[in-house]
Amino acid sequence: LLPLGAVLAILFAGASIWMLRQRLSPRGELAAAVRQREFVAHYQPIIELSTGRCVGAEALVRWRRPNGQLVRPDLFIPLAEETGLIRAITDQMIGAVIEDLGAALVADPRLHVAINICAEDLSTGRVLGVLEEALAGTGICSNQIWLEATERGFVDIEGTHATLAKARARGHFIAIDDFGTGYSGLRYLQRLPIDALKIDKSFIDVVGTEAPTSHVTEHILALARELHLTVVAEGVERPEQADYLRQSGVQMAQGWLFSRALPADAYLAFCRINRAQ
Ligand code: C2E
Ligand code: CA
Ligand code: CA
Ligand code: CA
Repeated sequence: LLPLGAVLAILFAGASIWMLRQRLSPRGELAAAVRQREFVAHYQPIIELSTGRCVGAEALVRWRRPNGQLVRPDLFIPLAEETGLIRAITDQMIGAVIEDLGAALVADPRLHVAINICAEDLSTGRVLGVLEEALAGTGICSNQIWLEATERGFVDIEGTHATLAKARARGHFIAIDDFGTGYSGLRYLQRLPIDALKIDKSFIDVVGTEAPTSHVTEHILALARELHLTVVAEGVERPEQADYLRQSGVQMAQGWLFSRALPADAYLAFCRINRAQ
């Protein structure tokens, strides 16, 4: 039999190793980052193609590590979704958006900001309560908050449909993100309560090229016109792409041609300059 002291020492060592592994595992690290509120929002300007003005932004999350390093979302969003930590990250993003852009949104009711919504929140509608509470008393109109839902996020079609309908009834603007990369057919789209399509970068990349998918872009734009949906093109890098989109009647675009995603102050400065023109 071991003396009590030895048993306690073994238990203590075991617990310490377990805690250390939790802390050092990617999951443990992400959970710690959520507790320490290490997520910040960067804002990519959204440009009205007919005027060249900045009319809004997409809020894109970055993980700012204590050493100052910024981690790209594609490196942690999948794990955040798998572990459910995405809910807390989304809530921190909503808080950041209101803190960063609240005054600008109130000062200019035509300005909007788009927030990315994960599959689970689309299914349950949880995020709508968070938004309602966050917006209360701010003077920001619900139509200034756009919700971006990717087709790949439509795991639970019925739930998603109900959440989008409810969001829209509350005045939010709904955009289907990464449009064209999922498998939604025309009938499915017609049924969904949505306002806009965000055309995925892969369909913008091929504009003006001989790629076999370049005609798909035309079909997507025709479809959007048919359904009276606003179109936002993403990943616009070249002036020819912007010209083509403008001529095709696409209302809005974002991409490195105009600006990368910026920290809040830089975004607000960009917006001031690009509205005054
Ligand atoms: P997304 O929603 O399709 O966002 C657009 C991504 O394309 C962003 O990358 C943006 O920085 C990048 N991008 C924009 N314009 C250009 C361009 O002209 N050229 C190129 N090469 N890239 C461009 P980012 O910020 O790394 O975000 C990656 C993805 O992470 C997003 O794709 C979105 O799916 C996800 N994500 C970002 N923020 C959030 C968030 O707050 N919540 C959730 N659930 N997902 C998020
Ligand atoms: Ca998006
Ligand atoms: Ca997108
Ligand atoms: Ca995309």
